[in-house]
Amino acid sequence: MATLAPPADVMAPFEPIVESQPARRKAPEGPIKVVHAFWLAGMSCDGCSISTTGATNPSVEDLLTGSISGLPKVILHHPVLAVENGEEFIHPFQLAAEGKLDAPYVCVYEGSIADERIAAETGGYFSAMGDHAIESGSRPFPTATRLQQMSAGAAAVIAIGTCATWGGIPAAMGNVTGAMSVMDFLGSDYRSALGLPVINIPGCAPVGDNFTETVAAILLFLQGMGPLPEFDELGRPAWLFSETVHRGCTRAGYYEEGVFTSEFGGKECLVEVGCWGPVVNCNIVSRGAQNHMGGCMRAGGPCIGCTMPGFPDKFSPFYKPAPGSFVSSNASRTYGAGIRRLRALSNHALSREVRWDALNAAETPSGWGDIEKPNAFDKTVHFFYEKLQFRGSRRPGREENRYWPTDPPDRMIGMTVPRDIATTGGAAGAQHGEDGPPAPPERGSGSGGA
Ligand code: SF4
Ligand code: SF4
Repeated sequence: MATLAPPADVMAPFEPIVESQPARRKAPEGPIKVVHAFWLAGMSCDGCSISTTGATNPSVEDLLTGSISGLPKVILHHPVLAVENGEEFIHPFQLAAEGKLDAPYVCVYEGSIADERIAAETGGYFSAMGDHAIESGSRPFPTATRLQQMSAGAAAVIAIGTCATWGGIPAAMGNVTGAMSVMDFLGSDYRSALGLPVINIPGCAPVGDNFTETVAAILLFLQGMGPLPEFDELGRPAWLFSETVHRGCTRAGYYEEGVFTSEFGGKECLVEVGCWGPVVNCNIVSRGAQNHMGGCMRAGGPCIGCTMPGFPDKFSPFYKPAPGSFVSSNASRTYGAGIRRLRALSNHALSREVRWDALNAAETPSGWGDIEKPNAFDKTVHFFYEKLQFRGSRRPGREENRYWPTDPPDRMIGMTVPRDIATTGGAAGAQHGEDGPPAPPERGSGSGGA
């Protein structure tokens, strides 16, 4: 899509403010000492700002204080978080747009970009920050125009959140604002001062760490200390968005075994209450929403595809099973039932100590409850299972005439050792099964098992 030019009066050049300037730092030579981050907000809910302030690895504080070794200090110009206001706040934006800033900068855009021409028809605006002069006085200055002016000189333009990356909810079908993404607004030919197209970090709201980690990676590159981070064909950090939600989901095991919940709040796979996770690129479950905690499925929420370019229209109606899930969930339900039973069998066998099998005849000495002993079928299956398990390998244990280094309690004398265990103990084991455990060897006899 071609770059959208705002109307002439919206683009009217602003007067640079020259009085009362704070002393500006000279551009450092050698390693970069500071980098400015200009945060611009379009049609947003501020959720991206909130999730970013919750990032922990690295945190915003780490970036702002320059406390990460090798990284330059970030000077953040954020319309909500800034201490400055009015002209003092806007001035660095103007310097950057005029190419007069004494340090590199990145532009961060939150929210979608409305078609300001629509609002201008009635003398209004959709999203603005600061004023600019017109013949009859002044009017709010659209953030979209500010982005357009600043984008050429920016080391990178980062679109944060789904509204900025793909248009998101404000750009849903039927909207009256003509809302679009930063990519749509700047066009496919756009390149930053470093030659980068728009970098996209989607999510509604995005994982804060996805943003701060990407900024840190870009800063390392700017510093000459790291490679250019890898981005996919949609400008997403490839290492963060190459996998689907499903592959990292805490409920994926249920899906594989064909166990699905039919109600919200269930602990099983959510695909039948509308989860699109198998076809959505997002890392929130493996990374956690904040400080490695939370994330949609961990909190019981099915994925509605909020990181995807097709969101929200292509994922609606929400909470209705996706048509494609009918095939895959019924397939896993079919084979999953058998797999689940076999795994339960193994789980039961593996939930007993080897000692219990060997000396207690599979009796579990738990005071907490009665635990079912393996029946003939379980033993048979496990007998063959162990044959396969230890085929070509040495089975753990001792070759001596006893395979347990202590005597069983008196009450165990005379208990029968299961056939499969007795067999593995050789003749001594068989004897153990018939006559009780063998007498402990004399110390120093050489046949004991220490
Ligand atoms: S809840 Fe969604 S992402 Fe998780 S296993 Fe089920 S379908 Fe996959
Ligand atoms: S799991 Fe789905 S709904 Fe949740 S953040 Fe990721 S893409 Fe959005």
